[in-house]
Amino acid sequence: MSALSLVALVSLVSTGYCVKLVCIHPIRYHGQIQRGQHLGRMLPMQRVFPGIVSHIHVENCDHSDPTQLLTPDVPPFPQQDGHWATICSGNPTNEIRGCDRYGCGYYGAPRKNGKGKHSGVDVICADGATVYAPFSGELSGPIKFFHNGNAIDDGVKISGSGK
Ligand SMILES: [Zn+2]
Repeated sequence: MSALSLVALVSLVSTGYCVKLVCIHPIRYHGQIQRGQHLGRMLPMQRVFPGIVSHIHVENCDHSDPTQLLTPDVPPFPQQDGHWATICSGNPTNEIRGCDRYGCGYYGAPRKNGKGKHSGVDVICADGATVYAPFSGELSGPIKFFHNGNAIDDGVKISGSGK
């Protein structure tokens, strides 16, 4: 196998699954990151949506439901393959935002414009909190969600096996 086709193969394998984490500022947009490693910082969501339950919007690239993967293995149970690491400091169980006056945080929740549904889940995270990688993979970005340059319009994509 040529070096080039090996690169293509590795690239194909490592991009088999990906997730976008938005409303965070990553410490970098490229390179490898390990599960549980420092990824970045929660942006000031209260500045844009006063009174909201601040959260990281977590969305699978294929728009499938990440809820099951989000439930981390917590002590005293041993870590198991397939579940993600804690994403936000202060929220060790990756608790999902409930409902507030801006909407609800679960997958498929209706959105105010009446069109479409919530295509990800919202993991509760206080403004300024430290954010960690849910699984190991390759970073890419920046990922914009609002496309308006507001204080929370930043994020990153992680491509990997999802574990
Ligand atoms: Zn969301």
